[in-house]
Amino acid sequence: MDPKAFRRVLGLFATGVTVVAAQHEDEIHGMTANAVTSVSLDPLLVLVCVGKHARMNQFIQGAGGFSINVLAEDQEPLSRYFSGAWPHQAPPEFRFVPWPGGPRLVGALAAMGCVVDRRVEAGDHSIVLGRVVALHEDGQHPRPLLFYGGRYRRLTEAEPPTAPPEQWPDDTVQIYHAEWSAGEPRPPQPDGGLP
Ligand SMILES: Cc1cc2nc3c(=O)[nH]c(=O)nc-3n(C[C@H](O)[C@H](O)[C@H](O)COP(=O)(O)OP(=O)(O)OC[C@H]3O[C@@H](n4cnc5c(N)ncnc54)[C@H](O)[C@@H]3O)c2cc1C
Repeated sequence: MDPKAFRRVLGLFATGVTVVAAQHEDEIHGMTANAVTSVSLDPLLVLVCVGKHARMNQFIQGAGGFSINVLAEDQEPLSRYFSGAWPHQAPPEFRFVPWPGGPRLVGALAAMGCVVDRRVEAGDHSIVLGRVVALHEDGQHPRPLLFYGGRYRRLTEAEPPTAPPEQWPDDTVQIYHAEWSAGEPRPPQPDGGLP
């Protein structure tokens, strides 16, 4: 199988974008990741796949925990920066705050703090399972940054639904009407049924 075709096909699976962050001793390290999946509700488990050659792989091992920060649509620069694809000298502005599991990225759409539950070595990546110990939602940023077909995308509203009934054209509605007074024989009904 062609690895390029594999990437292309998997790229058609639209995802959000996260920055995984971990603190080992005094150092904080962040890495852009979209191989993130919810795993279990009881206990609460999530997974992130980390490349074996990524610095983050060693880092998580030392830290014993990590945070998964879901990026908002205006945080594409942070995704580029933490994936090592930032073209400028000065990094974009960001700030981490201490949090259970791992440092939380301020301004992200949502975050999960995790303690490493176990690791599974899988080819050139490690599957890191995290037990969720903290949750955060930022009501200020309702829209996520998306990744699809190898490009960053934005969420747009779907087309409005088809016209509501009061806007239907007249000729789609037929009203059957018959005049009848009490005491007269009942007029025939269009469908032969009762009035
Ligand atoms: C949309 C997308 C999704 C991806 N998904 C995954 C995935 O699921 N799994 C995966 O393994 N790879 C993924 N990658 C690739 C991954 O982000 C890069 O390969 C990354 O460079 C590997 O990280 P690293 O730990 O080796 O960090 P580095 O490449 O060493 O670090 C990335 C950058 O962040 C900077 N940085 C990190 N922490 C700090 C800090 N505290 N202060 C200042 N600067 C800091 C570093 O200086 C460097 O510039 C993805 C990339 C993209 C664009």
